[in-house]
Amino acid sequence: MQDVLVVADLRGSTLRNVSLEALYGAGVIAQGGRVTALLAGHGVADLAEVLLSHGANDVLVVDDERLRTYQPEFYRKAVQTAIEAIKPSTVLFAHSAIGRDLAPAIAAHYKAGQVSDVIGIELQGNQVIYTRPVYAGKAFTKNGISGDLAIVTIRPNNLPVSEATQASGTAKNLDVSFVDDLRSTIKDVVKKVSGGVDLTEAKIIVSGGRGVKSAEGFEPLRELASVLGAAVGASRGACDAGYCDYSMQIGQTGKVVTPDLYIACGISGAIQHLAGMSNAKVIVAINKDPEAPIFKVADYGIVGDLFDVVPALTQELRAF
Ligand code: FAD
Repeated sequence: MQDVLVVADLRGSTLRNVSLEALYGAGVIAQGGRVTALLAGHGVADLAEVLLSHGANDVLVVDDERLRTYQPEFYRKAVQTAIEAIKPSTVLFAHSAIGRDLAPAIAAHYKAGQVSDVIGIELQGNQVIYTRPVYAGKAFTKNGISGDLAIVTIRPNNLPVSEATQASGTAKNLDVSFVDDLRSTIKDVVKKVSGGVDLTEAKIIVSGGRGVKSAEGFEPLRELASVLGAAVGASRGACDAGYCDYSMQIGQTGKVVTPDLYIACGISGAIQHLAGMSNAKVIVAINKDPEAPIFKVADYGIVGDLFDVVPALTQELRAF
């Protein structure tokens, strides 16, 4: 039995689904021990119910104006206070921009072992084994962590989410002694792209490459995405050509995604692009070159002009 702390991952005052996946992972590790969630932010206390109904035995709430935007030093203090309060064996973070910043700082502070970007958690006897992709998803390592405290970040869209049940646990406020002498402060976060489905959490992604040929060339992809309730992504080729914003880039130097369905339109399938999407559950490639490397990783391939294929697909799906 182990006690586990899950640091809920928020975008503003919205709870990201990966937090619920982390709660599932915490249940695997805890084996009857307590699972506590830390809910740190501003105007977020109401979200405790969601965490309690998805596997958290307790929620520690730190609802403070100072946590309105991500300030590393304040967030670190909140996580450390929670760790000192419940003394968990393991702390789970999302492998998000915030989790990637916080987790190593916490691991360094406690001299704890860390495994990042985990996509699977299992027990081998009493040992917890974490699976993570390496070499751009071409191989996987199985890692154990020794010591009193393990720090782990979870890649979104890889662990299941438990069915919501009647919450039986409680939410309580956690007092944190913040010291207001930050060495650096984030004044504001300005979104480049507003609205739409978050790429890293999207179940379906329609993605465009240099084959879309212009910014307007993304329009048919957006229409398909809106019919499917999908997010729109891109290759670096499309971003470099100025067809779309870099916030849409998927790959080694962009976002890593694991949707249920990835539709690659006019993308050649360079290794650096595959690094970001090859773990998608089903890959559909639309490319007019039958030799394009993307077909090697695709489950379904359509050789054709995307400007014919994508609108036809949208029309068919609309009729559904
Ligand atoms: P291209 O390779 O030019 O392919 C365009 C494809 O569109 C072709 O296969 C063509 O047949 C097809 N096509 C053209 N017209 C049509 C049409 N009308 N209908 C259907 N198909 C059509 N790339 C990433 O994507 N993400 C990364 O994170 C990334 N990081 C990198 C990091 C480093 C250090 C380096 C060196 C490179 C990185 N790259 C990355 C770039 C990568 O190597 C490729 O250059 C890039 O992925 C190519 O983008 P693309 O497939 O859109 O373009």
